[in-house]
Amino acid sequence: MTKLLSSNIKLTDPISLIKGVGEKQTEGFNDLGIYSIKDLLFYFPRRYDDYSSYSNISDLKPGQVSIRAKLSSIRNRKVRRGLNITEAIASDSSGSIIVVWFNQAYRINNIKPGTEYLLCGNYSLNRNRFSLVNPSIEIASDDQLNNTRIVPVYSAHKTLASWKIRKAVQEALVFSDQVEEEIPEYLISALHLMPIRDAVRQIHFPDSSLNLIAAQTRISFSNLFPLLLANELSSIERKRTKALKVIFNVELAKKFVSELPFKLTDEQRKVIWQIYKDMEQNNPMNRLVEGDVGSGKTVVAVMSAVMALANHYKVAFMAPTELLARQHFDTIFKLLSPLGMEDKLVYLSGSITALKKKESLNKAANLRSCFIVGTHSLLSADIDWSDLALLIIDEQHRFGVAQRLELQKKTGHLPHFLSITATPIPRSLFLSLFNDLDLSQLKQLPNNRLTTETNLVLPSDYDRFYANVNKELEKGNQIFVVSPYIHSRESDDTISVEKLMHIYSKKFSNYNVEMIHGKMGSTDQDVIMKKFVNKEIQILIATTVIEVGVDIANATLMAIYGPEHFGLAQLHQLRGRVGRSNLQSNCYLMLSESLSPPDRLRQFANINDGFKLSELDLEYRGPGAIYGKLQHGKGFNDLSINDQQIINLVKKAINLFMSQGDEVIKYPLLNEKISQAQQITYLN
Ligand code: ADP
Ligand code: MG
Repeated sequence: MTKLLSSNIKLTDPISLIKGVGEKQTEGFNDLGIYSIKDLLFYFPRRYDDYSSYSNISDLKPGQVSIRAKLSSIRNRKVRRGLNITEAIASDSSGSIIVVWFNQAYRINNIKPGTEYLLCGNYSLNRNRFSLVNPSIEIASDDQLNNTRIVPVYSAHKTLASWKIRKAVQEALVFSDQVEEEIPEYLISALHLMPIRDAVRQIHFPDSSLNLIAAQTRISFSNLFPLLLANELSSIERKRTKALKVIFNVELAKKFVSELPFKLTDEQRKVIWQIYKDMEQNNPMNRLVEGDVGSGKTVVAVMSAVMALANHYKVAFMAPTELLARQHFDTIFKLLSPLGMEDKLVYLSGSITALKKKESLNKAANLRSCFIVGTHSLLSADIDWSDLALLIIDEQHRFGVAQRLELQKKTGHLPHFLSITATPIPRSLFLSLFNDLDLSQLKQLPNNRLTTETNLVLPSDYDRFYANVNKELEKGNQIFVVSPYIHSRESDDTISVEKLMHIYSKKFSNYNVEMIHGKMGSTDQDVIMKKFVNKEIQILIATTVIEVGVDIANATLMAIYGPEHFGLAQLHQLRGRVGRSNLQSNCYLMLSESLSPPDRLRQFANINDGFKLSELDLEYRGPGAIYGKLQHGKGFNDLSINDQQIINLVKKAINLFMSQGDEVIKYPLLNEKISQAQQITYLN
């Protein structure tokens, strides 16, 4: 395609219009989620190499260093299977050091002896000698774009190296003048923020490290301000809105508790009490219950619901999957029966037959007070929601601000809102991001539980592991086997569900082995799950469809293949599928390489507390990865939500904004970001 004159190009135009970006590169960019010129301008560097100043080799001290040196004596050594070391000697006029790269054998092909390079990396003690480890490297030249300055390094793609991205960004910066400011002018000047256009330029090609910090602060501000402002506005709105008052009935509460097959834990009692108090208010409750897997959140939710039913209101209970909705329906049926309330139960989901759906809708229409259980699609059902007093969302990882606003439009009031989850939000994030939400924690497991033991299994230990599987099966217990993939992938030696199906059917031919995954229809999933519950299946091979909520007391062994592919919160959820009774359970992380396992997994094996794991996950992955879905489009890839200084800055801005009586509607770009923030989902 011929490139247009740059004066006609808009930020929303495709990146293929940028000079030097051909068809192949466009594909690579698209894979990275970059389509428009604006996307590219907002694709920020992953890190920077500081070539703006470098040291003499003779002056080096341990730590991050930059040098300008010639490389010689380059060689590759295969130390053992899976470990290749590339070594070279770097020299400048002051001295020489050893440079080492681990598992980057390709380096040998593109390093030219005698050429001068800029190297940037960690100078540290390694195998008893000091060396420069895994440095990044650029040919030294006086070209401004590539060195003698702070150089951006981008997350690359297999066909798109960081330097190609850098070049494209450099070209795209011509259009940065078109980036529009979304923050009100008076806030920018009062808080001394860098204007957005400058920030976009400086974050890619900073003139100095001070400018870089100012640009990063500005970009973080832009990310956080709409989120916190959305929060503030929702909070104000909620406090202005009426809810249906649910009056506490002590007899009913006593009756419910006396019919339970177990005694509630103190924490369960405490949380239920908090909820009852909230629901007696005129304003809608907005409460998140965090409780580790197996802590008994369902019964807390149902006990809350029962009170709303007794007040002749409706309750809706949404589960993330059909599988779970079905399971909840059965559980709730059992809990309501002793109270004579089971007639009020209605099941609604996308996949039930038209006839059944009609039955459900009729039932809901005829009952003023009913308990509707289903997937998130239930809110769009043709039901009169005006008597909806309580909305419960289980493990859906979303606060549903958007859904609530929709309900409010339909009914004129807001229901009390209860979100229950086993994936806790790290405390620091909670305080900064969700101050409109009240938090309850179930920090105690029912005391008949034994701690699930977690084991890391190297390929050489697989046989011993299979022997353990056999032992469990002989005891009549059931097994979960999980893989991240349904089909095998060329690029990954993780064993897929299909392959596992083959392996386990062969190895354990006396037992019934079945698989379950998201590509199967929900009826088929239901059939398999029922069989597993009825113990007709002993080994269930699954993807993460079984990740949350599934409650099978007799399952005592969880094997997770490709554990590196999962976040800690996800692994913890998976591990939580076992150890749900008084039987000792085990979780096995099936490693596919004989290398020493990542620290992350080793720590996971020793920590059973979901709250601690969430903090650790934050440390390892950063809020960007955890809050990947927080914002529309590209991930939330900066650390600002953890940065108290920026949070304070944003809070100051919000105070100013509110005290001026300013309105979001005056700022279309900001308004759009706020609407997005109100659709927030959190934690993946
Ligand atoms: P989660 O919090 O992971 O959603 P569930 O609500 O599914 O956990 O509860 C897990 C299991 O523990 C269920 O079988 C439930 O009946 C049982 N349970 C809940 N509370 C208690 C308790 N106080 N004592 C013993 N068992 C309980
Ligand atoms: Mg649950």
